Amino acid sequence: MPGLYIVATPIGNLGDISARAATTLASAGVIAAEDTRVTAKLLSHLGLRVPMTPYHDHSDERTRAALVARMSHEVVVLVSDAGTPLISDPGYKLVRDARAAGRHVTTLPGPCAAIAAITLSGLPSDRFLFAGFLPNKAKARADTLAEFAGLRATLVFYESGPRLSASLAAMAEGLGNREAAVAREISKMFEECVTGTLTELSARYADAPPKGEIVVIVGPPGEALAEEADDDTLDAALREAMADKPVAQAAKAVAKRFGLDRHDVYARALTLKEQA
Ligand code: SAM
Repeated sequence: MPGLYIVATPIGNLGDISARAATTLASAGVIAAEDTRVTAKLLSHLGLRVPMTPYHDHSDERTRAALVARMSHEVVVLVSDAGTPLISDPGYKLVRDARAAGRHVTTLPGPCAAIAAITLSGLPSDRFLFAGFLPNKAKARADTLAEFAGLRATLVFYESGPRLSASLAAMAEGLGNREAAVAREISKMFEECVTGTLTELSARYADAPPKGEIVVIVGPPGEALAEEADDDTLDAALREAMADKPVAQAAKAVAKRFGLDRHDVYARALTLKEQA
């Protein structure tokens, strides 16, 4: 069926290409590729010869319009250099325009470094925020981290070796010294996942920036202590603190002690006060 096919490709191990991805690539009229030289290696591994055209979100309107026109009668495949297109990679404008033109749009799910790193990290995976790459400049990086600090979610960052130690230190400062994991070279020969607190990990990589591709996973606030702070423990601590402090101060102290969100603890403190 003609249309746009978004195809995930391996992030290291070429064996991770799915059978459906290979068949779809083989049937493409054209492959819109982030870097045609990179995709040429994948095609050669699969023994395929398929026309390719470079595509970025900053490609001009005409390039995009031409691809959208071809989708009416051909299979147009979108790939990035590695992993899932659109995830810190080009593609969303092409998908947007294909949808606006009423084309058939489908996706072939597959490798994604962010998801693979979450599965390796041993950190809570029920709720996470994909944060992509942090800005390079210290002020912008600190501002971005401040936006994430109150979220009760695991955070996922893409990183590079030379920036790793400084980024981990900035995360410790902006988010608190949380449990974290550095997942590197996933699905490649030197895959590793190193866990520790943000300050431990920052110190570890300070003098030895690691090589290769990296994802940093940061646990939610207060994760290390959250299990100890069950509802009864929290209520007891709040009652004790409220005995000699105003509600807001008591909530702040208890939230800090258990590494919990201040607003949540304040809400609970108000409920307890009303019940008293
Ligand atoms: N779209 C891709 C995906 O689905 O994962 C991500 C593209 S983004 C431009 C590239 C970044 O993803 C790298 O800088 C690194 O942070 C991460 N990454 C890609 N492959 C990786 C791997 N094998 N191991 C660890 N991180 C990887």
